[in-house]
Amino acid sequence: MRVTTEVLELPFRDPFRIARKLPHHAASTVIATIEDVDEARGIGEGFPDPYYGETPATVAAVVPVLVETLAEMGQAPRDVAGAREWLVAASLAMDERISHNGAAKCAVDIALHDLVGKRLGLALPELLGTPRELPPTDFTIGIDEPEIVAQRAARAAHFPALKIKLGGPADLATLEAVRGVFGGPIRVDANTGWTPEIAEALLPECVRLGVELIEQPFRARRLDQLRWLQERSTLPIVADESAVVEADLEGLVGVVAGVNVKLAKVGGVGPALRMIRRARELGFRIFLGCMEETSLGIAASAAVAGLVDWADLDGCLLLAADPFDGLVLGPDCRWRLPEIPGVGVVRRPA
Ligand SMILES: [Mg+2]
Repeated sequence: MRVTTEVLELPFRDPFRIARKLPHHAASTVIATIEDVDEARGIGEGFPDPYYGETPATVAAVVPVLVETLAEMGQAPRDVAGAREWLVAASLAMDERISHNGAAKCAVDIALHDLVGKRLGLALPELLGTPRELPPTDFTIGIDEPEIVAQRAARAAHFPALKIKLGGPADLATLEAVRGVFGGPIRVDANTGWTPEIAEALLPECVRLGVELIEQPFRARRLDQLRWLQERSTLPIVADESAVVEADLEGLVGVVAGVNVKLAKVGGVGPALRMIRRARELGFRIFLGCMEETSLGIAASAAVAGLVDWADLDGCLLLAADPFDGLVLGPDCRWRLPEIPGVGVVRRPA
């Protein structure tokens, strides 16, 4: 197998800011293309987040190392059960070769699923055995002046739920301003930006303003603080930065009500499917999130979205222009999964 990587710099529609980052005007994402000896091809995407120690350069460096470890595996079997086992084995081989680097593994894992799906003539949900009926996606608005956040909320008011980034001095004013223009559920994500004092003050306001859940209020390792807040909160607290891979789930039992699974954290669509199944067994409510991927990464995510309670698959909707074609958002804000073999998206002509 040969692999090439390409870094895409994609401008956002609106500047995007979260509590633990400066405002960003463009997303940097990595597209991997794998070609097998029989010229079968697969494409995948890994969105690196420096918070998890990855950059476009680390992804571009790690992807060829990962593909090299697959050399001894031969081609995937031509039957569905055998192909699924092969994809799991490939993922485990990558984890054994190098730890962490979820975005790099994600790019390879999606590309392998795309390649195998194309070879078997199966679209991704059929390859994985996952439902095509999906919950609607919410729409995310980054931190900005409360009136600007409200303007963006009004523009996105056709979404059934909005995810509002908090973690700054104007959090309450922002929530009030959004509530003034949007009647549906508000999902709050503080991206580790709160202290227990801030959370204690904001919790009753969140309840009053119709917040549906609170994502990652505190620093990733402060499970003690997450547990303290969940014990006081009727709203589900959802771990994101504290819930990177499947192995993190056990430690979150009795700490938070929900976990946020993302392909770019856990290492692709196969690992995400296994993490979702394990989270369900452990009794968590499940949020499926994303970074700011193109519709290639979002289409792969959407293939497991039928198994979760809340979908936040809006990465490509935050981009000024999406370089891929094939994934369609219905008027009900549910992604329509492509019917064609593989992940089902194709590069738009430049
Ligand atoms: Mg989050």
